[in-house]
Amino acid sequence: MVMAVRLLAARVFSRRVLSTSRPLWNVRRGPEFVHEDRFMEDAFACFPLTEIKPASIEAQGFIEFVNQAQSPFHAVEQASIRLRKAGFQEIKEKESWNGILKRNGKYFFTRNKSSIVAFAVGGKYKPGNGFSAIGAHTDSPCPKIKPVSKKEKVGYLQVGVQLYGGGLWHTWFDRDLSIAGRVVVETAAGKLENRLARIDRPILRIPSLAIHLDTSVAESFKFNNETHLTPIISTVTKSLTGEPPKSLKPDTDINGDIPLSEKHQPILMQLLSKELNVPVDKIMDFELCLYDTQPSAIGGAYNEFIFSGRLDNLMMSYCSIQGLIRSLESAESLANDPNIRLISLFDNEEVGSVSAHGADSDLLPSTFERLSLATYDNDSGTSTAYLEALSKSFLISADMAHAVHPNYPEKHEENLRPHMHKGVVIKVNANQFAVRNDMPCGSTIGPALSAKLGLRTIDVGNPQLSMHSCREVCGTEDVALAITLFEDYFEEFPSVDARLTVD
Ligand SMILES: [Zn+2]
Repeated sequence: MVMAVRLLAARVFSRRVLSTSRPLWNVRRGPEFVHEDRFMEDAFACFPLTEIKPASIEAQGFIEFVNQAQSPFHAVEQASIRLRKAGFQEIKEKESWNGILKRNGKYFFTRNKSSIVAFAVGGKYKPGNGFSAIGAHTDSPCPKIKPVSKKEKVGYLQVGVQLYGGGLWHTWFDRDLSIAGRVVVETAAGKLENRLARIDRPILRIPSLAIHLDTSVAESFKFNNETHLTPIISTVTKSLTGEPPKSLKPDTDINGDIPLSEKHQPILMQLLSKELNVPVDKIMDFELCLYDTQPSAIGGAYNEFIFSGRLDNLMMSYCSIQGLIRSLESAESLANDPNIRLISLFDNEEVGSVSAHGADSDLLPSTFERLSLATYDNDSGTSTAYLEALSKSFLISADMAHAVHPNYPEKHEENLRPHMHKGVVIKVNANQFAVRNDMPCGSTIGPALSAKLGLRTIDVGNPQLSMHSCREVCGTEDVALAITLFEDYFEEFPSVDARLTVD
């Protein structure tokens, strides 16, 4: 199966390169991820500064997206905004889709407001036909506020955090941090409502220890994830100058539990209350991520880098959304498509995908099943439509990859060294990924979905450095390359697949 998938990918990915008239002199998007070091020959031919162009609109579009997406909830909100603008209709999982779904229709739904699925039904779609799908994830490693977070030590008010995913936690020291996520508030009518919340200024800090107080830090920086990663939010001195509001004083809430206002720093609750414009005692619960307030930026001498948090995996999430939207710009393309084009952006990849809305949940299988068995313009499939569809479908699991590192080149197998600005890396080997045999590699959503659905799947991703750091790096040109690749995949996959028979 791996071979068939590679072959298929090679056909899909190479079509545009062969058929396009765009200048592709610096673009290698073939299926191989062994890039030649040919550009080294030109090392002395420095591109003149006067000819430096701003980063592509695609790279700038990503910067706009990621600067508004500090939590999975915000990422889903940003995805929804772009999908609505492109004419997608929001539907709900809890409602019947009969009578709603139509050929040439564009739809999306969210689960937990942190995962999102969007799809467009081909004009020639019949129940039992395949899905051209891309999967990515909305979450990134970060400290999250603990359910009981109030701490105080030697004159500092602190906020306890739990570590979500496998972050490079040392990168979170000495950065200007704040919080973003979802807050549940009680409305005047007594209803519980989800609200997005983000404090737009640095309110938290994880201070490092001065070198004078521990000289061993110059050799290796060791720290305790529980005790040394607790951010400060204020000093006791400052906090005592204001009277705590009355609403902070109840002993217990309606269920007899300690109220939220007692579990967290009063100042944190006040900040949220002000941000959401609701009284403190109407804040019922929250899920809040810490984030770095320094905005993502284009960098490098030639505007060739993106410096940003959450590249893994908001970059591939963004490219999936844009690839799908762009593939629909010509109505004719969808009208002739026998497949359903679908993207699924999951939460909880960084903690193993096992949750009600992660990649290992029923989110994708149940969506495929529902869409295969639904009625389209009075046309419905047989009871085996779902199973037929699976064997005709294809999934690109899009998750960032490791670019070769100039200071640690030995970490990559010498023939497998992905470079920036050369398009997506395809990750293939007998055990899912190609890495050095003595190096571990990360996980992704592909294997879980492939095994669960028996689906042809390929793992791809743009190359980046510093994966899981608070501030990562990738190449600007790879944004447009991935978007074009996904656009082509949606447009070309059914016709390419029709020419390849395995079973
Ligand atoms: Zn990832």
